[in-house]
Amino acid sequence: MRKKIVAGNWKMNLDYASGISLFSEIVNMVRDEKKGDQIAIICSPYIHLNSLAKLGGEVVKIGAQNCHQNDSGAFTGEISAGMIKSVGCEYVIIGHSERRQYFAESNELLAEKTIKVLENELTPIFCIGETLEERNGNIYFEVLKAQLEQGVFGLSTADFSKIVIAYEPVWAIGTGLTASSEQAQEVHAFIRNEIANKYTAEVAENTTILYGGSCNPKNAAELFAQKDIDGGLIGGASLKSRDFVDIVKAFN
Ligand code: 13P
Repeated sequence: MRKKIVAGNWKMNLDYASGISLFSEIVNMVRDEKKGDQIAIICSPYIHLNSLAKLGGEVVKIGAQNCHQNDSGAFTGEISAGMIKSVGCEYVIIGHSERRQYFAESNELLAEKTIKVLENELTPIFCIGETLEERNGNIYFEVLKAQLEQGVFGLSTADFSKIVIAYEPVWAIGTGLTASSEQAQEVHAFIRNEIANKYTAEVAENTTILYGGSCNPKNAAELFAQKDIDGGLIGGASLKSRDFVDIVKAFN
């Protein structure tokens, strides 16, 4: 079944106390606003995960923003999917463009991470997206297709059916330049079609595909009304409780 999801990505923001306080506000507000079949998620820095899961994990689900591809060992500074699972998280963002760009994460590495996340019974939110150069060069469909093929199309049908895809055009992230609802819908339909070609029409129909990139309370309703857009991955606007909850409400 295709799920409706609004996920906040706090990125590297908020110290411990500020994160707890923002999350508490969000839980209290979302409790009254969220419809039954809708899922709200906050993907926080690692330091908050344990506390957030205990504070309100049944109203707002908790996700991490990354994990290591190994189970354990001498990888100073890293966190495994098993550790993330152990504190009550349910989701992990994999392949955010900032990880691809600043930490040189390749599609091959992201494929390994995705498998590790699934092995630990967590849901990967797998991000793909083209740069402005790739869009202007009109090669964005090829770029997105390669990210899907090398990142997640190696999964079995059963495993693929458990993941969430997020389309985040790099040129729209943090820039205030949202993709128009037509531009986003065009890509979401393309992604769903690629999934149907690789797996089945039924798998494609049931895959949740989120849009991310300068999504805000003003543009969310129009984006979410598109046929193939099943929700959003929200950066900046997830750092303000009112804005995040207004985006959650944009489904209503
Ligand atoms: P903004 O909403 O700040 O553009 O960030 C989007 C994003 O990268 C979410 O993962």
